[in-house]
Amino acid sequence: MATPLSADKLLKALRDEGLHVVEHRSWRTNNRNHKGPWGPTHGVMIHHTVTSGTASSVELCYNGHSALPGPLCHGVIAKDGTVHLVGNGRANHAGLGDDDVLRAVIAEKALPPDNEANTDGNRYFYGFECVNLGDGKDPWPAAQLLAIERAAAAVCRAHNWSQRSVIGHLEWQPGKVDPRGFTMNSMRTRIGKRLDGSPDGPSQPPPRPTYEPFPGSSFFAVGRSSPVVTAMGKRLVAEGCGRYTVGPGPAWSTADRNSYAAWQRKLGYTGTDADGVPGKTSWDRLKVPNV
Ligand SMILES: [Zn+2]
Repeated sequence: MATPLSADKLLKALRDEGLHVVEHRSWRTNNRNHKGPWGPTHGVMIHHTVTSGTASSVELCYNGHSALPGPLCHGVIAKDGTVHLVGNGRANHAGLGDDDVLRAVIAEKALPPDNEANTDGNRYFYGFECVNLGDGKDPWPAAQLLAIERAAAAVCRAHNWSQRSVIGHLEWQPGKVDPRGFTMNSMRTRIGKRLDGSPDGPSQPPPRPTYEPFPGSSFFAVGRSSPVVTAMGKRLVAEGCGRYTVGPGPAWSTADRNSYAAWQRKLGYTGTDADGVPGKTSWDRLKVPNV
C-alpha cells in the first residue's frame, strides 16, 4: 500500500533527482478526485502527447478537452527535459487497463500481455506525458529521455519501488501505442541503474584544464613548431621575460630559450637550473593558457 505523495513531496523528489521543474498554475489542486478514488499508488505510467510545442501541450494536459477533462497527467516532460507539473491527485491518463498487469506491477514481476480493460488505472498510477507526436519520426532528444529516466526514478525512490513499477501506456491498455520511439525495457534498465546509483546518462566531459600541461623537457628542441611555443612566448613577454626581436612564434628558438631562462631566474633559479629549457615546476608556474 502506497499513499500518494503530497504535492510538496512530489516536487521535492523530482528536484532532488536533478530535474528542472516548473509548477504550472494551480497544479497542486488540479485533479479528478471528485470523480473517483486516488490511491493507493502502485506505479508510474509513461505516455506521449501526440502534440508538439511545450506551452500548448502543457496547457492541454492541464485543462484536458471536452471529451476528456484535465488534468491528463501529473507532469508533462518537454523536449528540453523540463518537467511541468499540471496535476496532483487523480488524473485522466491511464484509462481502463489489465488487472493482471496491475498485479505484476505491484509484485514488481515481469509484465503479462495487456489483453483486458477491466481496471481503473487513473486510481493507481502517476502519469507523465512526454511531448512527442508519436509518429515514430518525431525525435526523442537525449535531454528528454534523461528527464523521463529521472522523473520515473524520483517517484520510485520516494516510494521505495524498483524500475519494474514503471510501465508504458502501451503495456497497460489494449490498443495503446505510447510511448513510441524508445522501448520501455530500455527505459526501465536506465531507471534501474539510476536507482542503483550508477546512471548511464550522458556524463559531463572532464573539464578542460585551464592551462597547457607540461609537455616534457624534450619537447623544447630545435625543429619544434607548435602553438604551445607561441603561447609560452606570449606568457614570457607578459612576465617581463621576453627576449625576442621578432615573435614570439611557434618555432622553438634561441630567443625562446633566452626568454625562458629569464623566467627561471625570475623564479630564483641559478646556474644550470636557469638554462632556458623548461622544467615542470617553472612551466606550471608560468600558467600557459590552453591552445
Ligand atoms: Zn497514453
